Amino acid sequence: MGREEADFNPSVARTHAEHPRNYGMIEKADGHARIKGPCGDTMEFWLAVSDGRLKRVTFITDGCGSSLACGSIATVLVEGRRIEEALSMSQEEILDSLGGLPTEFEHCALLAANTVQEACRDYLAKKTGQSGSDFCRDTLPRQVGESEEDYLERLQLHTRMSSIRNKIVVLSGKGGVGKSTVAVNLAASLRMAGKKVGLLDVDIHGPSVPTMLGLENSSIAGSREGLVPVDLEGLKVMSLGFMLIDQDEAVIWRGPRKTEVIKQFLKDVAWGELDFLVIDSPPGTGDEPLAVCQMVEDLDGALVVTTPQKVAAVDVRKSISFCRELKIPVIGLVENMSGFVCPKCGESSRILRSGGGRRVADGMGVPFLGEIPIDPAIAEASDRGRAFVCPDNSSLASRSLRTIGESLLRIDELKKAEEGGPVDG
Ligand code: ADP
Repeated sequence: MGREEADFNPSVARTHAEHPRNYGMIEKADGHARIKGPCGDTMEFWLAVSDGRLKRVTFITDGCGSSLACGSIATVLVEGRRIEEALSMSQEEILDSLGGLPTEFEHCALLAANTVQEACRDYLAKKTGQSGSDFCRDTLPRQVGESEEDYLERLQLHTRMSSIRNKIVVLSGKGGVGKSTVAVNLAASLRMAGKKVGLLDVDIHGPSVPTMLGLENSSIAGSREGLVPVDLEGLKVMSLGFMLIDQDEAVIWRGPRKTEVIKQFLKDVAWGELDFLVIDSPPGTGDEPLAVCQMVEDLDGALVVTTPQKVAAVDVRKSISFCRELKIPVIGLVENMSGFVCPKCGESSRILRSGGGRRVADGMGVPFLGEIPIDPAIAEASDRGRAFVCPDNSSLASRSLRTIGESLLRIDELKKAEEGGPVDG
């Protein structure tokens, strides 16, 4: 993406910087956003929307010539587009249209893209907050028998999810097999690969992600866009645990109350643009994981975690059948607590019957993604509130977790190739 000064052709950028198009504000705009970038520059956009299309787009900025050029070209690019198309405006698109910018000014393009997206979300939030959203009714029609209220909620969730490229759910047939451990460390390994990652913990009875990441005392901020996830060194984290005042609260709720809480939560989180959302689901195949999998439409796949013993294998078969019924692709099976790594010599030994995960995967025709040994350092890391996977951890368990992360990266690459977008080298 970055360019050297030598191969940078400034003519398009200079024209927009010297003669910015659509500069100014729109009175009574349908959508508006103002963002201050990390460089201190502010960008502000206004939208006038009609029939779900951007009829007019304007901007102002207190930034440098590059900010003017990026804001100006962004208005030109999105005018006339449908709102859901404008939501996917990217930094790359702005840079490409300008013929590139020197690397140190590329952040201006990101600021412009983010502000356009925020203005679109502002429009959608206003629409869905009112009596009827006609946004993308064509692309997401109302279902037979669906109430207007349910439909609007589904639209809102759809809008949130449309800025997330890969949505992966981590499932397990029962609790205690290491589902949350796998979810946390997969999110960490994807983040280490430079991806924009969100981690969503919807395990209503045992939201353990805040503890595993040392975020028990984090409080959640609300914004006009919704609930803002906690930022942990670039990893966006949201957990039902942040919302439950008393951890035992959910235990006494009846089923419909639980699914209602999950639904509200899913639709209220403002993730922004993500490469991956890793969802730590409630265990089992009951109403709660069902609610999660049904509400997050277009899940890209499920990762099923099991342990080697036979009893876990029975549960994992149920999880795979559950995915098949819901038409969620099974990315693969992970066997956790497979063998024991001695903390003294680092040797792995089999202390429990093992190989169950691979047998079930073969028997049910799903990929087997790997084995993670029991490693006391995993439990220690989680007690200390840190992800186990980190750049300087080369243990067997860490390598296994990173290999599983790589299978998710490959899915993303395939998806990009199918969509005709740029594929990482
Ligand atoms: P689940 O989400 O399936 O209920 P957790 O991920 O919360 O399970 O794991 C349960 C406990 O087991 C946690 O204390 C976690 O640190 C520990 N644990 C999980 N996997 C391993 C492993 N491979 N080695 C050692 N401890 C593990």
